[in-house]
Amino acid sequence: GESRLHDSRKLLDQLYMLVRQECVRKGISVQLNTGEEPVNVFGNSDSLKNIFLNIMTNALEAMEEGGKLTIQANYTQEGNVCVYFRNTGTQILEENLGKIFEPFFTTKEKGTGLGLWLVYKEVIRSRGSIKVTNQPDGVEVRILLPGGPEEN
Ligand code: ADP
Ligand code: MG
Repeated sequence: GESRLHDSRKLLDQLYMLVRQECVRKGISVQLNTGEEPVNVFGNSDSLKNIFLNIMTNALEAMEEGGKLTIQANYTQEGNVCVYFRNTGTQILEENLGKIFEPFFTTKEKGTGLGLWLVYKEVIRSRGSIKVTNQPDGVEVRILLPGGPEEN
């Protein structure tokens, strides 16, 4: 499909519906910090959902014993969109932080190592950026994407 503005809150809500049962089963609480106003992100909806779902899936896989996932979408000062996903769990080894976007890099027994590689390619294609950082209690993935508060 074509690229246009989408309300990131709606996309994230739709994806949350897909993983809600899994979250309940694993004892993962999800906090979707999306406010009253739309946060419009520019892109192809399939591509955007692909990006978000890959990041969410990694977060859930990092919390097999339960935890907390916080998702927030908001405008930056420049009017672009920042979406971050923060999950509790094990941090990424310092030596692996530079490898996680490489195709086939995985630390999982049955991982493909293609998720973040695809995410990276899609984000760059959308003229955005992505940053993965360790937090005191887990991992944060932050993506910046073009967007703006125009009408849908
Ligand atoms: P896969 O999920 O198949 O392993 P990905 O490309 O999606 O491949 O991720 C690559 C690697 O990055 C993972 O194997 C894992 O080591 C690390 N990773 C990604 N997201 C997280 C996260 N939220 N918490 C901890 N490690 C992560
Ligand atoms: Mg993955």
